Amino acid sequence: MKFHIHTYGCQMNVRDSEAAEALLVAAGHEKAAGEDDADLVIVNSCTVRQKAEEKAVGKVGNLIAAKKLTGLMGCAVKRLGEDVFSKLPKLDFAVGPRAIGLIPRIVAEGRFPRLELGEDLMPEALAAHVEEGGFQAFVTVLVGCDNRCSYCIVPDVRGHEYSRPAREIVAEVRSLAAHGVSEVCLLGQSVLRYGMRNPAWDERDAPSPGGYTEAFPRLLEAVASVPGIRRIRFTSAHPKGCTDELLRAYCEFPQVCRHLHLPVQSGSDRVLSEMGRRYTRGEYLAAVRKLRDFDPEFAVTTDVIVGYPGETDADFEDTRSLMEEAGFDNAFVFKYSPRPGTRSALLEDDVPTAEKERRDQVLLADQERRGQERNERLVGTVREVLVEGPSKRNKSRWSGRDGGNRIVVWDCDEGSSPKIGDIVRVSITEAHPQILLGKISPLRNGTDF
Ligand code: SAH
Ligand code: SF4
Repeated sequence: MKFHIHTYGCQMNVRDSEAAEALLVAAGHEKAAGEDDADLVIVNSCTVRQKAEEKAVGKVGNLIAAKKLTGLMGCAVKRLGEDVFSKLPKLDFAVGPRAIGLIPRIVAEGRFPRLELGEDLMPEALAAHVEEGGFQAFVTVLVGCDNRCSYCIVPDVRGHEYSRPAREIVAEVRSLAAHGVSEVCLLGQSVLRYGMRNPAWDERDAPSPGGYTEAFPRLLEAVASVPGIRRIRFTSAHPKGCTDELLRAYCEFPQVCRHLHLPVQSGSDRVLSEMGRRYTRGEYLAAVRKLRDFDPEFAVTTDVIVGYPGETDADFEDTRSLMEEAGFDNAFVFKYSPRPGTRSALLEDDVPTAEKERRDQVLLADQERRGQERNERLVGTVREVLVEGPSKRNKSRWSGRDGGNRIVVWDCDEGSSPKIGDIVRVSITEAHPQILLGKISPLRNGTDF
């Protein structure tokens, strides 16, 4: 069968789709050129906000109308359970985020409709996969989440936190490197908690009593020791995990990119406490200061929610001022969406939609200006850029990312086209809020790592 997977949501979903693809290929199916060309189309869904869920469900509805064999996978399946078939009566099958290992069997058996919510982890679905010629890979190090932030449905749909044994992760990274991967991104909802919960730890892998302090930096060290791995990224982080040991890892292992995605959610202590985020504004800003004291160019990006129940103008202004003080390099702003079963869903969703929209626009405009200012500081520096390919907008230009995950675009001299996956040095000539422009630099003494 020719299949196509359409993915919504976060990097974990991107990785899960890669795993499902690899499992289907191993079972003898073939990747289609696109949706129109496919006999089987699977939609990988997100449910973190209601709109995200509606998009995925709507997409499946359209595919059913086109009479394709259709499957739905991912977080929305776990949230909807049996209701998925009342919403989509003609859906062929639905699998939860921990059941993707079952997809090939479900397709082979052909007994539709079928729902698999999947409570247990399946190792075959945990392993990373890259396509032939791929140079970047997502590697799951921690699944699920036990934090239970008041607004968040992730723990309900992705289950309890579980850290994969370090040995398994390192073996996987070795095999990725042997297939030409030079950049890995280690994934976990709260990835710095790595090693804090795993019923199967043996003595060697046991987390230190200090919890946050040891296990993740040790994992970074182990991954950095794999020959061929030139860049290590990871996401998402929590300020409590920004320990001295983590900084030491940045310092000792140049492969570890100086970028941290550190979702803050709000700048108001009152809102942070209601959300159950377990840090104050002051603690969050101290963590950012620590990173920037270490390296002023350290890139820090974030997620923010506007319009949390009871968020006042003063709370919102606290978020604005925190974002200014933190000097984020990039920020994703989300309008609060109540999710069934979460603690905050019991509170009145009392910030009007128009006000959520206004707050969203204000923060985005602030970030646009801030992004420009932060990027202007980099004009005249040389960035080490991992080549991703020709620029989407202008094919005579090339595009890649620096260690801070900033998009860098440069003109390519004729006859000297770089190789995808290589690291080149680009001297920055122009800054924009989301992009740096430059030219290939022959210099050896750059300022980036
Ligand atoms: N594990 C990550 C976040 C995963 S969800 C972390 O805690 O760092 C990704 C983002 O979606 C969150 O950071 C949050 O900003 C947003 N989000 C989660 N639940 C939401 C909700 N109910 N309404 C609006 N945004 C939400
Ligand atoms: Fe959701 Fe909080 Fe867990 Fe992130 S840490 S996935 S926001 S519960």
